[in-house]
Amino acid sequence: MGAYIDDRLASLEAYVPGEQPRDREYIKLNANESPFPPSPGVLRAVSAAAGGLNMYPDAACRELKAAIAARYGVQSANVMVEDGSDNILNLCFMGFCAHGVAYPAVSYGFYSVFSALYGLDALEIPMGPGLTVEPERWLNLGRAVVIANPNAQTGIALPVPDIERIVAANPDRLVVVDEAYVDFEAESALPLVSRYKNLLVVRTYSKSRSLAGARLGFAIGDEGLIADLERLKYSVNPYSVNSLSLAAGAAALSEDGYYMEKCAIIAEEREKLHAGLKEMGFKCTPSMANFVLAEPPEGAEAERLFLALRARGILVRYFGGGALSRCLRITIGSPEQNAALLAALPGAIEEVGRR
Ligand code: PMP
Repeated sequence: MGAYIDDRLASLEAYVPGEQPRDREYIKLNANESPFPPSPGVLRAVSAAAGGLNMYPDAACRELKAAIAARYGVQSANVMVEDGSDNILNLCFMGFCAHGVAYPAVSYGFYSVFSALYGLDALEIPMGPGLTVEPERWLNLGRAVVIANPNAQTGIALPVPDIERIVAANPDRLVVVDEAYVDFEAESALPLVSRYKNLLVVRTYSKSRSLAGARLGFAIGDEGLIADLERLKYSVNPYSVNSLSLAAGAAALSEDGYYMEKCAIIAEEREKLHAGLKEMGFKCTPSMANFVLAEPPEGAEAERLFLALRARGILVRYFGGGALSRCLRITIGSPEQNAALLAALPGAIEEVGRR
């Protein structure tokens, strides 16, 4: 640490992203990226947009917003886009949580980082049995609410009527439903947006639309809510979304069949991987996302297994201590990658058990 940072930030613990090592080729199942490349039209659109890089991008993101609005049956005024959904979440914590914020005790790690960054009164609501979100605990909180659905790290999805209960029971505060993982056959809360002015549904292009490297996220909500978010965005970085990502985002939606087909493959692979892991003695949460949370069988410590897989060229996510210390989070890869993982596991488990 240097000498000049503000005192209030001196002990800030930053978010730790999944590692992106460069020392060798890995089967990368640690960051919930898509194993599939962007669709051909996206590659063409990015290449065509590259010639205009001498100009600033369209800060209003008009074409992309129109494409998102058309895809999801809303108006452009209901849509905002940012360079990654992380940045939309950032604006939510920055501008809507003065009365405090609640999020699940086990969820996306950035929620607690943003809370600390803005000095918020953060309530981490304990999980129910099996790491579930129990709606009864989320009513009349008097503070903003942020829920990932399906939830991060567990993949468990709350049914939309439960989400509606939470949104309706916190009418004076913003309720963010972070749907980063919704496209892998879970149900979206988007149909509720027209009925609840306090609901913001946040989405990302990073998982289901193979564009993690483009950094693109969007949110859908009431016009007033979106206007406030835009005001915050224009107070931080109006040009946050670059021209190449704007082009990629619109082109991806014009080939949405490609992506939805890939999502169906991932959902099918998830069930296969889940079954394979169970057969080896892992305990997995019932995930609806593009990953599974798996507790290795007795005798195979999670951290050691993580290292044994790493040594075999397979990267999964180990979160260290805390509630998930006994678990590994495994991104669903391509059918070949998942097969390679299942083939490598018995040897890795055996090695870990021997030590
Ligand atoms: N929300 C959740 C629940 C996530 O897991 C992630 C990805 N780490 C994000 C948001 C951020 O996604 P993006 O790449 O759009 O910033």
